[in-house]
Amino acid sequence: MMPPLFLSHGSPMLYLTDTPAHRFLAALGRDMALPRAIVVASAHWETGMPAVGAAPRPGTIHDFGGFPDALHRARWPAPGDPAVAAEVVSALASAGIGAATVADRGLDHGIWVPLAIALPGAEIPVVPLAVQPQRDARHHLALGRALAPLAERRILVVGSGAVTHNLRAARGQAVDAPVPAWVDGFRGWVAETAAAGDAERLCDWRDAAPGAEINHPMPEHFLPFFVAFGAAGGGAAGCRIHASVEYGAIGMDAYAFAARA
Ligand code: ZN
Repeated sequence: MMPPLFLSHGSPMLYLTDTPAHRFLAALGRDMALPRAIVVASAHWETGMPAVGAAPRPGTIHDFGGFPDALHRARWPAPGDPAVAAEVVSALASAGIGAATVADRGLDHGIWVPLAIALPGAEIPVVPLAVQPQRDARHHLALGRALAPLAERRILVVGSGAVTHNLRAARGQAVDAPVPAWVDGFRGWVAETAAAGDAERLCDWRDAAPGAEINHPMPEHFLPFFVAFGAAGGGAAGCRIHASVEYGAIGMDAYAFAARA
């Protein structure tokens, strides 16, 4: 069983910057049991209907601008895995969820930035999974639940987004800027509610969480959280395995999900 993970990928600068979140990801990669493949639901692949990347050699997508050359030149050459992509499509179909197979999808920075830090050797195949920002948390929880059987087959399901993501508030801030109360209030609510395994309340986050709107003016960076949570199966809870904030407003918290003890 590979416990599904939610990773906050932050700014693309995370790749080049020695921060607590960077060091956490590097340690995570050193310590974890290596999976057969990694399925990553990324905030940076937005589609209308579920979609799965099946490229055998997915390219590194530099879906950002205005960063140092070293970031634009960075490559993370992890292979894809068309057979695992087919397993994902089939698992979704078994749950009544139709999904498109996209033969030429590369690895967006929501995927490669955290995984290149954790797994610089790029030896484990990666299969991208899209999010649907016009759909709610329950849809993404259902996507994850459909993938729960894959965890039994040594496939790691990762959601890559950000626990808080207000880019306007983050702009111009130092990486170690002070953290406002509205950021910590939301992060604390997520940690408590995930630890309690309260899926219903988490799914109502837009109404129930303090500062939901200001922490996520758009929802796409929080939706991968629900894919990872769902992939741990019904009755799971989330344990916060890393907590930090960058640029004052970009939460870098990470979670591991497992059945409640
Ligand atoms: Zn992002």
